[in-house]
Amino acid sequence: MADGESVAALVAGLSVAQKAALCLGSDFWHTAPVGEAGIEAVMLSDGPHGLRKQPGRTDHAGLRDSVPATCFPTASALGSSWDTELAREVGTAIGAEARAQDIAVVLGPGVNIKRHPLCGRNFEYFSEDPHLSGALAAALVEGLQSQQVGGCVKHFAANNQETDRMRVSAEVDERTLREIYLPAFEHVVTTARPWLVMCSYNKVNGEYAAQHRWLLTDVLRGEWGFDGMVVSDWGAVHDRVAALFAGLDLEMPPKLGVSDAAIVGAVAAGDLDEAVLDQAAARVLRLVHRARRREPAELDAAAHHALARRAAAQSMVLLKNEGVLPLRDAPGLTVAVIGEFARAPRFQGAGSSQVHPTRVDVPLDELAAALPSATLRFAAGYGTGDAPADASAALAGAGLADEAVSAATGADVILAFLGLPPAEESEGFDRAHMDLPAAQTSLLARLAEAVPGTPIVAVLCNGGAVRTSTWDHAAAAVLECWLAGQATGSAVADVLTGAVNPSGRLAETIPLRLADCPAYLNFPGEEGHVRYGEGVFVGYRGYDALDRQVAYPFGHGLSYCTFSYQQLRITCTGAADTGDLAVTVRCTIANTGRRAGQEVVQVYVGDPAAAVARPPRELKAFAKIGLERGAEREVTFVLTARDLSYWSAVHRRWVLEPGAFRISVGASSRDIRLAGDVTVEATPPALPLSGTSTLAEWLGDPAGGRALRDALGTGPDGRPTGILGSEELLAIIGNMPLGTLAAFPGLGVTGELVETLVTAVNERRAEATSGPCQRL
Ligand code: BGC
Repeated sequence: MADGESVAALVAGLSVAQKAALCLGSDFWHTAPVGEAGIEAVMLSDGPHGLRKQPGRTDHAGLRDSVPATCFPTASALGSSWDTELAREVGTAIGAEARAQDIAVVLGPGVNIKRHPLCGRNFEYFSEDPHLSGALAAALVEGLQSQQVGGCVKHFAANNQETDRMRVSAEVDERTLREIYLPAFEHVVTTARPWLVMCSYNKVNGEYAAQHRWLLTDVLRGEWGFDGMVVSDWGAVHDRVAALFAGLDLEMPPKLGVSDAAIVGAVAAGDLDEAVLDQAAARVLRLVHRARRREPAELDAAAHHALARRAAAQSMVLLKNEGVLPLRDAPGLTVAVIGEFARAPRFQGAGSSQVHPTRVDVPLDELAAALPSATLRFAAGYGTGDAPADASAALAGAGLADEAVSAATGADVILAFLGLPPAEESEGFDRAHMDLPAAQTSLLARLAEAVPGTPIVAVLCNGGAVRTSTWDHAAAAVLECWLAGQATGSAVADVLTGAVNPSGRLAETIPLRLADCPAYLNFPGEEGHVRYGEGVFVGYRGYDALDRQVAYPFGHGLSYCTFSYQQLRITCTGAADTGDLAVTVRCTIANTGRRAGQEVVQVYVGDPAAAVARPPRELKAFAKIGLERGAEREVTFVLTARDLSYWSAVHRRWVLEPGAFRISVGASSRDIRLAGDVTVEATPPALPLSGTSTLAEWLGDPAGGRALRDALGTGPDGRPTGILGSEELLAIIGNMPLGTLAAFPGLGVTGELVETLVTAVNERRAEATSGPCQRL
């Protein structure tokens, strides 16, 4: 079997029943074989941050064991690396493991946007920002597919919560979809060309994603040119025939005897065009064919563990450091290591992504190895089971806290390992609040009070963001590790001791409190609907627009060295109308610290005078660069017309407005080091003019304004007469539709005049738009 024609020939030789069978899996993880036609089954496995191959009994919740595989940092961590090369390496390694396990497709990455901190699956997603999510996911897919293993970007689309995830309708306007929830998918599809896209469970504006023809066919294939296969999320298909028509090729797991019968019946009854079935079957065959190129491989567990360690260390975000870090090993140094997570680390989330790790590094052991001359004292401090519910548990909690205070007394530094217990976050449900368990925050307060003057370093392990504002004043340093995979223990030792200079940056804002979150009032919805009422103002876009203080802003992260930003140069070439507009942004970054380090340079765009409400800053480019002590480097970014545009609901296309745009370069969305303006020329599409267009809209349109002024006449001085002659009157009646004005006698506007104007302007428009049109 080969591409193109021979796949078509193969499909032509299959019966309707065989083609229907191909559009369903044969079991939980395999496509259907067609023995007579020489078509074998291929296996799909989760994903996304390591392989979860379930050879025997299967589930999609990670409840049963899988074959050991390297557990790389989850997307919550990898997203914070802001390192596309690293994501590519991780993807390549997962692909190699898939080859070793004879897996054709890895079900990942997940690129859903972190709309709200409580989404239970935020640990599986990269960021609240679509540009960052798309860039990292595309690199990961490229890595995977370099091994001839398919990537499957998921969950398409608007799956931003776990509450009622199988049914809820995400009510999102098109502009918000286009600007926030679709671009990461779009970027992965158009640049990395994943073999698969997985649709989500939820509905989007009332229609199940699995049956959403606009999403699965018009946008995905029509606009983005996707040529791979669409698979359902596991159990997302409700009406197999409607899903097939919408563009869903493979149903997983299969409803054998039901879905295939429905397809065969629909073709026989003439309700489904057989060509639609042929197309879907051909896409499945193409996947089988692609998978044949895969060569066997051996798992190099040691090398992959080393990569998992490097990736975890690159992902950790140093939120705060009052000089206590890095720790320097020395005889006589006493370190109190407090917290159950120091000996039983939390490094991944629960659900379908749960990997059976090849090994697990324990922070306590790794710290002992990294600080050989120091004395380490350990105390568990709290339990990681359910929150103490009765008096005896509270007593046990108090006992653990007492032990922690004894261990900390007399120590030079306290490392407090804190985080979310596994029961508090997982696929399948959303979190109830964003606080650390009370046992942990009270432990921290106890330590601060009982051992004053001894610096506390809080080391956090959590998949979703946790509130820090209630306790971080008690910590001299805070290191956010996220869920950083099986090598969390060694990586955290690397960062705390300075063997690795931290370079992670927040891929999501940490608010002062949950109620500040722009999506707060609209999460998780009710009665089957969740309204994305904050629109495009998701994450930092919203916090910045509302000018709300945050605990730690998007993009923030400290290093053990410092960087300066200089010499911003912005140049603009080409033109939007000819499709070659390029805004080149250059600046020079210097390492002004005393050791080598990495900086993440972030470029934000704002349009201060836009026709629609736009966020003050939107990330459109970034680069992670390594600099030796004293070194400097020029970095260059090229922005396109699309980077400056908004999605117009009226025109249903990207619109670039002419005028000045603010380009800000900085170390976070709130730490802008350089800024300048660039002026671009563009011809925005004209508004459709009709009798319901307002007087102001007519006047604001060059052709409409001219026609109206001509019709109403000008005085001898060339100035408009009648209603157009008085600024005061215009301010009052400017927002009245022209057709309504015709009903008021004496204003000079009649019904006939409106009709004549509409016809004239639209004719002129038709002539003008027969030229080349702008495509972004
Ligand atoms: C999850 C997917 C996963 C699939 C297979 C579903 O419940 O949403 O992300 O790939 O199960 O395990």
